[in-house]
Amino acid sequence: MTIETRYVAALTDVAAIRLSCKKCGAAYSFHPTRALQPPHSCRVCNAVLFGDGTVLEREAFSKFQESVQGLLRLADAAPFKIELELPILRDGGSLTTQ
Ligand SMILES: [Zn+2]
Repeated sequence: MTIETRYVAALTDVAAIRLSCKKCGAAYSFHPTRALQPPHSCRVCNAVLFGDGTVLEREAFSKFQESVQGLLRLADAAPFKIELELPILRDGGSLTTQ
C-alpha cells in the first residue's frame, strides 16, 4: 500500500506569492492582495522575465493576480473555501510515501 503525504493550505493562508527567475533562482515575493508589476528583467542576473515578447505570460500573470485577489475578497462570504494541495517532497524531489 502506498500512502502519499500532502499539505493542504487555505488560499487565505497564503502569505506571499513568489515569482522566481529560472536562470539564477532570485525570487520576488508579493502579498496576494497587492497588485505587482512584474519586473521586466531579473534584478540579479538581468534575464528577461517579462519582456516585449512575453505578452501572453504578462497577461496570464495579471489574470492570476486578479483571480487570487477576487477569491480572497469573497473568502468570508462564499459557501466554499479554496485550498491548495501540495505534495510533500523528499530531498530529491520525489513524492514522500510511507
Ligand atoms: Zn535571475
